[in-house]
Amino acid sequence: MEKGFISVQSENIFPIIKQFLYSDREVFLRELVANAVDATTKLQTLARKGEIREELGDLTIELIVDKKKKTLTIRDRGIGMTREEVEKYLNQVAFSSAQEFLEKYKDDAQIIGHFGLGFYSAFMVADKVEVVTKSWQPDAKAVIWTCEGNPEYTIAYTDRRTERGTDVVLHLSKDSTEFLEESRIQALLEKYCRFLPVPIKFGKRKETITEEGKDGKKKTRVVEVDNIINKPAIWRKPPAELKDEDYLDLYETLYPYSEKPMFWVHLNIDYPFHLTGILYFPRLGNVLEIQRNKIRLYSNYMFVTDDVKEIVPEFLTLLHGVIDSPDIPLNVSRSYLQSDSNVRKIASYITRKVAERLNELFKKDRKDYEQKWDDLGIFIKYGMISDEKFYEKALRFALLKNVDGEYYTIDEYREKVKANQTNKDKKVVFLYTHDPEAHDVYIREARARGYDVLLMDMVIDNHFMQHLEYKMDDIVFARIDADTLDHLIDKGETRDAVLSEEEQKQVEALFKEVAKERDGATVLLKALSPEAMPVQITRPEFLRRMREMQMVSGMKQNDMPDFFNVVVNTNHPLIASKLLHETDETRKQELARYLYHLALLQNGMLKGEALTQFVRESLEVVGGEKRGEKSEE
Ligand code: ADP
Repeated sequence: MEKGFISVQSENIFPIIKQFLYSDREVFLRELVANAVDATTKLQTLARKGEIREELGDLTIELIVDKKKKTLTIRDRGIGMTREEVEKYLNQVAFSSAQEFLEKYKDDAQIIGHFGLGFYSAFMVADKVEVVTKSWQPDAKAVIWTCEGNPEYTIAYTDRRTERGTDVVLHLSKDSTEFLEESRIQALLEKYCRFLPVPIKFGKRKETITEEGKDGKKKTRVVEVDNIINKPAIWRKPPAELKDEDYLDLYETLYPYSEKPMFWVHLNIDYPFHLTGILYFPRLGNVLEIQRNKIRLYSNYMFVTDDVKEIVPEFLTLLHGVIDSPDIPLNVSRSYLQSDSNVRKIASYITRKVAERLNELFKKDRKDYEQKWDDLGIFIKYGMISDEKFYEKALRFALLKNVDGEYYTIDEYREKVKANQTNKDKKVVFLYTHDPEAHDVYIREARARGYDVLLMDMVIDNHFMQHLEYKMDDIVFARIDADTLDHLIDKGETRDAVLSEEEQKQVEALFKEVAKERDGATVLLKALSPEAMPVQITRPEFLRRMREMQMVSGMKQNDMPDFFNVVVNTNHPLIASKLLHETDETRKQELARYLYHLALLQNGMLKGEALTQFVRESLEVVGGEKRGEKSEE
């Protein structure tokens, strides 16, 4: 046996390895399995080139836990190493690259996926590492290399291995015994190694099989089978070879027990960078937050991270699925990633593909697409607000839905309502409601005039409308209760007022008096159609939208009061004749208050004592005896 010292350049790196990335030390498993996979694929390459003539045999990589000896072994049947190669690769190459890695990142734990520590990451969890290896080369002897977490190592020939390949035996340190638990290793293998192109075996697994007995009856039997971790990385296959089931199977593997996705987009590009992947569109409904961070980043089949926010545009993080690219630099800090030109190209490629897919679905089967809109809209709207390029593409397939459940693209909708809903400033007014039940009266009134009303009830709609108004200067959105219809779509026509100025002052004074009981009310007199309500509550669009957007973004709620207008229709007979001609001052007040309360009621704003009072007054008006007579019949 020979002893030696790994040439240490500056300081002893072993204690640093131990501490470094302590919370993510599980990545050692990925690094070691990656080496085993590399060794195996190198062997396959040699065989393909004809340099190896013999049968390669079973190439399964195996993980073995020995609880008594407290060891975890990673075993491969790859190319193995000769004595010289061990000296060169483990003592020199691997060591100096580990050292270089630590030098560079010891103060920056934000490296994506903690890629690159390599073989020496074994010392994050092991006090002692043994490598028992036999090269593929015909007359190579097996070699054992040991190192106990210091620059000293030993190397010797051994007969512990007769077959080609490498065992890396980790003698786990006291604080790493969790890696002796089968469930922990199983979970780690599923997380990092599931899609690797070389089979990985970890112990046995019970499986129930059903077979036909001699009597022709079906029988079930429990058998032990090799526990193979791998699933096919179907994103690497050409889409033409895949069926819907394959995509759904992968989804089920990645997100067990989740609702099925609506559809997906298969990414596949070779130039100017390599990227494959599948992005799934989940049913998002009307929520923005809970679904995020489900996209997993792989590098050559190996899991890296599920935090991809530096790599894909933010709105895409609402999607689920897999991105696999060896061209995303992993051995860099996260903050660097966004400025990397490859990463930027990748982001815009993915955005383009997603937009193309949506456009294709829209064009192919519009009915089906419309049915999915309620689960898709939030994603597309969010994308349009946050990504200029996506906005432009999405104009073709972003939909508006009206209260009758009809869907229109923005251009189609503009065409539909333009003739009747253009105001005197030449802007097409898109009327909308967020709550058709609550706005029933307004909607009916709008319909009576031949106007159309959109349903904008998604959490993101205020932002979305704001954005469209900003991008398109010929349209404006107005909630149906933002003003009276005459003013919402102000065509510049005026109606003759039937009241004199003196009479108007009287009416105004009366309503100002009754409206005082509530903060935020402003009384406005308007000469509307005699058929419109005598008193209406309206909420100025701009202020209301600002207030709601503040509330959504979690800013203080109380610094903006709930402003509203009390619009008195001076052309309504109840105002123009009944109220004005009432001689009893108290009755006059009561009538004004009653009409005001009726308007509040219609907006769900009448509550508590005021509501009770209103109901009592209404009963008095209807008259108690009448009801009594009826029930006796
Ligand atoms: P990297 O894999 O990035 O090259 P590592 O530090 O992980 O760096 O490993 C250094 C070298 O040691 C590898 O390049 C390879 O030559 C050799 N090596 C490591 N593990 C194995 C193995 N299981 N079988 C054969 N060679 C290995």
